[in-house]
Amino acid sequence: MNQADEIRNALSVIMDPDLGQDIVSLGFIHDLIISDSGHVSLEIRLTTPACPVKDLFKSQAENALKPLGWITQLTLKMGASTPQNTLLKSAKGLEKVGAIIAVSSCKGGVGKSSVATNLAYQLLLQGARVGLFDADIYGPSLPTMVRLQNDGILMEGQWVLPLEDRGMKLMSFGYLSQDHRGPALLRGPMVSQIINQLLTGTFWGELDYLVIDMPPGTGDIPITLTQLVPITGALIVTTPQQISCVDVVKGIQMFDTLKVPIIGVVENMSTFTCNHCDTEHHIFGSGALEKLTAQFCIANTFQMPIDPTLSQASDSGTPFVIQYPGSTTAQKFDAIAKTTVQETAKLRFGSQNRPQLKYENTTLSVQFPGGEAQPIPSAKLRLSCRCALCIDEWTGAPKLDPASISESIAPTQIQAVGNYAFGVQWSDGHSSLYGDEQLAKISQNAYNHLTQKS
Ligand code: ADP
Repeated sequence: MNQADEIRNALSVIMDPDLGQDIVSLGFIHDLIISDSGHVSLEIRLTTPACPVKDLFKSQAENALKPLGWITQLTLKMGASTPQNTLLKSAKGLEKVGAIIAVSSCKGGVGKSSVATNLAYQLLLQGARVGLFDADIYGPSLPTMVRLQNDGILMEGQWVLPLEDRGMKLMSFGYLSQDHRGPALLRGPMVSQIINQLLTGTFWGELDYLVIDMPPGTGDIPITLTQLVPITGALIVTTPQQISCVDVVKGIQMFDTLKVPIIGVVENMSTFTCNHCDTEHHIFGSGALEKLTAQFCIANTFQMPIDPTLSQASDSGTPFVIQYPGSTTAQKFDAIAKTTVQETAKLRFGSQNRPQLKYENTTLSVQFPGGEAQPIPSAKLRLSCRCALCIDEWTGAPKLDPASISESIAPTQIQAVGNYAFGVQWSDGHSSLYGDEQLAKISQNAYNHLTQKS
């Protein structure tokens, strides 16, 4: 084994926990130079500068290389790959944008813009190159949330140049209008055209993340926007009062239909901590978020408290996470940002950690990485459907009569949905969604059941 292979071999023990592969197989090792005197220099190039395990990888690499006694000096650089979004070749201004994150809500006033803005700034604080696009033409809030000394728009050739604050690239229709407000009346197609021009006509440059503050709802405008650019993943913002409402379900279904994976659901204004007794009050009730996420196999949920300083910061023109870094609420935004980084990396670079659900030769089976394929009786999986038609959303009691499901039921189509679930179309015409965790539980039960039978 030559020295370069020895180094690669030693580093191959370091696993990326999200991508489920070692950093050598993932192609993270670059610019490996070994001098005659044993000076080794190399760069570990991660998927994003905001990688939450960057420091851990660095110390793991130093430890992994220690046993190679011939290394006299180690120069280890931690870098990030240049984003290249090949899907965006047609929209030149977005070509070097690594991931596009849509922040969406079913209704206005739930805190969508607050989450989008603070998520973007939190990603910036974590070291990423970030842009924030306010696509809410009727109610642009970016000029209020981020007040700039100089917000005159400049053009370079055909390009609109984004505005900048602390390195954050910003664009909003509000910056283009005198009073920083949206138009009073515009027809839908016109709005879609303006959003299109502003999003794809802005020269965003090299970005790791572009956060889009989506127009609220599931109408034509958000649908057109979602079809216009390949959105890597979406965060849905809602409030406890709205969470069980049909609009949130419509939002989730819109992204599912448009094949945009859902990164997570943020339940905003979910608790209030009283100054006098320090107790966290769920003034709008609790429990609906868990039910919704179980039904739609949403892996990441976040609860943001009502925080008067967040509201004051929004009005002050300096984002909350810049003004109050480290506060309890800022830590919540930090968690949302870290999850966004991890989930987008998984979505862009593929995860080897996912199971496979297959139907072959009349047998349905699930196989987890490194494990054997476990057969699952089709009728059992069909009966495990957790949709609102099959179980009572509030009590969890089954609504489906087991006798109504034939033993011969079979899947007609199986497809991966987002990062954590499979959609199954059944021969009885029903569609179900199964999360990876649910499949693990069902397959284990099915396995126990089958082995007890034999
Ligand atoms: P949307 O984009 O959904 O219309 P905004 O982000 O503009 O909602 O928020 C609406 C109002 O609620 C703003 O005044 C904002 O400052 C305030 N707000 C949002 N989230 C919170 C929170 N968690 N605590 C206190 N005020 C909040």
